[in-house]
Amino acid sequence: MNAPQRLPSVCPHDCPSACALEVEVIDGQRIGRIRGAADQLYTAGVICAKVARYAERLHHPDRLLQPLQRVGPKGSGQFAPIGWDEALERVAQAFLTAERQHGSESVWPYYYAGTMGRVMRDGINRLRHVKKYAGFYSTICINPAWTGFIAGTGSLRGPDPREMAVADCVVIWGTNPVITQVNVMTHAVKARKTRGASIVVVDVYRTATMQQADLALIIKPGSDAALACAVMHVLFRDGFADRNFLATMTDAPGELERHLAGRDPTWASGITGLKVAEIEAFAHLVGTRKRSYFRLGYGFSRSRNGAVSMHAASCIAAVTGAWAYEGGGAFHNNGAIYHWDRDLLEGLDCVDPAIRLLDQSRIGAILTGCPEALRNGPAVKAMLIQNTNPLCVAPDQTRVRRGFERDDLFVAVQEHFMTDTARMADIVLPATMFLEHDDIYAGGGHQYIMFGGKLIEPPGECRTNHAVIAGLAKILGVEHPGFAMTPRELIDATLRRSGWGNLAELEAKKFIDCQPPFEVAHFRRGFGHADGRFHFKPDWPAVAFDHDGPMGPWRQMPILPDHWPVTEAADESHPFRLATSPARNFLNSTFNETPTARRAEGRPTVLVHPDDARRLAIATGDRVELGNERGRVRLHAEIFDGVQPGILVSEGVWANAAFADGSGINTLTGADPIAPFGGAAFHDNHVWLRRIET
Ligand code: SF4
Repeated sequence: MNAPQRLPSVCPHDCPSACALEVEVIDGQRIGRIRGAADQLYTAGVICAKVARYAERLHHPDRLLQPLQRVGPKGSGQFAPIGWDEALERVAQAFLTAERQHGSESVWPYYYAGTMGRVMRDGINRLRHVKKYAGFYSTICINPAWTGFIAGTGSLRGPDPREMAVADCVVIWGTNPVITQVNVMTHAVKARKTRGASIVVVDVYRTATMQQADLALIIKPGSDAALACAVMHVLFRDGFADRNFLATMTDAPGELERHLAGRDPTWASGITGLKVAEIEAFAHLVGTRKRSYFRLGYGFSRSRNGAVSMHAASCIAAVTGAWAYEGGGAFHNNGAIYHWDRDLLEGLDCVDPAIRLLDQSRIGAILTGCPEALRNGPAVKAMLIQNTNPLCVAPDQTRVRRGFERDDLFVAVQEHFMTDTARMADIVLPATMFLEHDDIYAGGGHQYIMFGGKLIEPPGECRTNHAVIAGLAKILGVEHPGFAMTPRELIDATLRRSGWGNLAELEAKKFIDCQPPFEVAHFRRGFGHADGRFHFKPDWPAVAFDHDGPMGPWRQMPILPDHWPVTEAADESHPFRLATSPARNFLNSTFNETPTARRAEGRPTVLVHPDDARRLAIATGDRVELGNERGRVRLHAEIFDGVQPGILVSEGVWANAAFADGSGINTLTGADPIAPFGGAAFHDNHVWLRRIET
């Protein structure tokens, strides 16, 4: 055996870090250890453990290797191999039949972020637009978070994430970077070592990240805006507000100050469950350290008041004036800096605005025929699903399952493994993994464009997502330049059209650093709104987010930052509130098929505060049942004092079969849209809890 080569790549997973990788390739056929690339300044040589051991996933014996057709009842798991030509022909004919009988909008291509590579993730949209299939309104992840952030800043960008290393205080709010997007910790810890910076962590339970915090704030789910308001109250009260910044760079500082007069730490203590002294300490810390970098994550936005919470948290930096300083300001995502031309990749030149959009998060309501969710259009009769596993990850799982059980629904799934969703399919198509194809990536949590090239041949008969889309287009008889191009050609042309050079240059440089200059990143030349000011008073329906119209209770959204009590309240029948948080060894449902990850995570578990456990006579290891109006889930209890009484946390999206009754954790989560533009409130569930007698 020759010594392994070390070749560059990019982590494709749904994680803001989009780490630059160095992959050991053994004899051109297998991969060995994966490390972080040291020469990409954000990754800085560090990646998470689950991707470091990727060989286990890529060379897994259970990988799908050939196309399959269903030969038993739906969900029975009975499949037989077929050839690629026949498989694609069957998918195309199912789409043509649906189109002929029910119109083009009865076909619903469905995808998500199982890969963040733009060719393999987004190419399905090209087919959708060219064929006028039903639109995919993407809501499951970003909507409340991005909307809330843009509401204040007017643009989805912010201070260079590497500036965390020169901050005097790093506030990690609603994200757990010790287990994923690990690079946040790299830069935050560097600031602590070199500058004595404090690390503050705000979350709903004692995460691995919180264990590294100098100030740990465990709050109740959905109370983030109350904390933010009380912090701003103290900043005004104690003279930490930057009056000059407020007067010149914000829209309504006087109104905000008057409004916050009634939002003191005692008020917030009753909502958040924090001590008044903790809120005061947090406010004084960010008030005295102008270089406070607020790293705002997605977690706390997955609540019915998530957009309001994100906006409120981002407002703190505008009160202190932290935006003006290197190492200061608020950051959530850099989506706005890349100015992609997406026409070739996604066929945006063929969009018909009259075609309905269907909400990704409401797949259960859609597939079970809810007229409002279907926008009063035809039922969905045929689907192609790539890069996602909705029967496991989508909310309102009972309804999602009922939808997939429909005999009149044709489903094709392209996947790596026989997931919960693939098991319900009529046709299963084996997909390449990221080291087996070419793709291009951009970091949400940093500022690099990167190329991840094909390093090894795929196993068996696996094909790329792009090949499937192009193959279907050919049978369906539709044309677009993007179908005829190779992934490399698509990447090269997209880079050129977007003003980022070309593929040869990117391969030579490995990364393109797209970081805007300081004045732009810190909004020194004005925030993204027309008036150039940070907005404490957002015009919510007018926030510059690409959406499908206001939804949820958007008319009741607070005018100024405030606690908005629209969360799913505990009541007599549902005395607990449940957050469904990420697990260290999984990434959504990805990795829940690898033995090491499963061993490390143990089994589906719910964390229960000792006071609650005592009252209900529950001990660690007991079998318990959680339930609400959406269904019941059976798992095991673990007594845990790093959460407030009345709050439950269940980590990880396990395969449904890992639960006693085959009902996964998303049986308990709701799909009602988050205001103002949709989204799923994964951490905002009321439930009851009881021990199961054995
Ligand atoms: S931290 Fe995120 S981007 Fe980096 S290797 Fe892990 S999953 Fe991938």
